[in-house]
Amino acid sequence: MFLNLEPLYSSIVENIKERVSKLARPPKLAAVTCQPDPSTLSYLRSQEKQAKRLGIEFAVYEAPKASDLKLLLPKLSADDTVNGIFLTHPLPSDISELEAVSLISPEKDVEGRHPISLGNIMYDNPIFPPCTAEAVLRIIKYVTNPSGKRITVVGRSVTVGKPLSMLLLQKGVDATVTVCHSRTKDLAEITKNSEIVVVAIGKAKALGKEYFSSGTLVIDVGINVENDEIFGDVDPSVAEICELTPVPGGVGRITTLVLMEHTVKAAEMARKY
Ligand code: NDP
Repeated sequence: MFLNLEPLYSSIVENIKERVSKLARPPKLAAVTCQPDPSTLSYLRSQEKQAKRLGIEFAVYEAPKASDLKLLLPKLSADDTVNGIFLTHPLPSDISELEAVSLISPEKDVEGRHPISLGNIMYDNPIFPPCTAEAVLRIIKYVTNPSGKRITVVGRSVTVGKPLSMLLLQKGVDATVTVCHSRTKDLAEITKNSEIVVVAIGKAKALGKEYFSSGTLVIDVGINVENDEIFGDVDPSVAEICELTPVPGGVGRITTLVLMEHTVKAAEMARKY
């Protein structure tokens, strides 16, 4: 069956609204775009709507070239009215992801992409973990206690697979984690032997029922757009034998909320100094 994430969603919304109401002024999220394509623009519009619903200020800044980014990101990082900085893809070709995200102050790195944010996870001290990885952890904890469970993460990207595997390994979370990727042999044997499987590979409906044992919790991170339709990385028929997160409306929806929650946390932290 498909997992109903509505109660988790609503509880995060309520928590954010309550925390925003306690701040002296609304938190502000700055979205930076470089060369936005139609999907980036539509993503930005939905983020803006969500921010406004939660009482978070949202402003878009344009930095078409690497030289613009190199000026804008430090400027926003030093701007006391900005709490969180959110950098959209695609980036200009003459700046690497690592170089770009390193220009954001770690205190405002609400997407969790700065090397310091990623390093903090290694010390079991995640302050701003990558939003999708945190969203997946929230969903897993909402359904079950991950302690001691065999959890397989399929995908090893810096945004999803790698940080998620480290979050799951943290003391207090205590999962037994296997990470798979495109060179993994006998993937189905590994996933079938897991109690929880997270799939983040970027291939529409790639994993079908033959990859899972019945009763497994399957978290589908994939967002693949084909002919204006959105598909996950897992074939929806898997919901006939497993608990499966829906796409759309699953991990992506919680991820957006985590980004907003991080912005509120950044504002709360700034208030303390
Ligand atoms: P990447 O392309 O950066 O990474 C994909 C990973 O999957 C790589 O590690 C790759 O292995 C592995 N992989 C690819 N094909 C296979 C395969 N057949 N079997 C096993 N492993 C495979 O993607 P992202 O991590 O950025 O994103 C993954 C998916 O999640 C995408 O659909 C993306 O749109 C979606 N996404 C959703 C978000 C949300 O909020 N819901 C946020 C971010 C992403 P290798 O390293 O060997 O190449």
